[in-house]
Amino acid sequence: MAVKKILRYGEKSLREPSKEVHKVSKKIHELVQDLLDTMYASNGVGLAAPQIGVNYRVFVIDTSTNEEPLNPIVFINPKIVKKSGACKSQEGCLSFPEAYTNVRRYKNVTVKALDINGRPFTIEAKDGTLQARAIQHENDHLDGILFIDHCINRFDANNELAKFNLPPVEEDKLLEETELENELNND
Ligand code: ZN
Repeated sequence: MAVKKILRYGEKSLREPSKEVHKVSKKIHELVQDLLDTMYASNGVGLAAPQIGVNYRVFVIDTSTNEEPLNPIVFINPKIVKKSGACKSQEGCLSFPEAYTNVRRYKNVTVKALDINGRPFTIEAKDGTLQARAIQHENDHLDGILFIDHCINRFDANNELAKFNLPPVEEDKLLEETELENELNND
């Protein structure tokens, strides 16, 4: 369909919760195509609808490497139904061009969602793989949560954001992740 403009950190849609999809209509098919086109054009591993200014619960990922065939996965109305373990992850986001910081993530997640045909599917992503982390990262976007809200060190995160002229971490958005934190410290 079309490569869309990706909203940058600071723009309102990124902090707004997204609505459930009631019907996987032609409009949703177009949205998915736009997400895929935009993600591939930016060499991203994931993109969520709010990042192109559409607040519906839809995201796409493709964690295949350059040598592998493309492997787009579409998630509509996703729900993370199980999560366990903790891992540290160096993450970036297409809405934060070039800024990376360490965040806390679950190691294992089980996600249920609808595919592009409206059929339910389940993915178990394990061992802190790129797929496991990408699912958590993109799913967060649907609730207005950004990767920096999970940052391990907000001073490091702020230094990094400043380098790219992005606004600092929003302190009131920082997440309490005591369980993940304890698990990481015990490693
Ligand atoms: Zn992102």
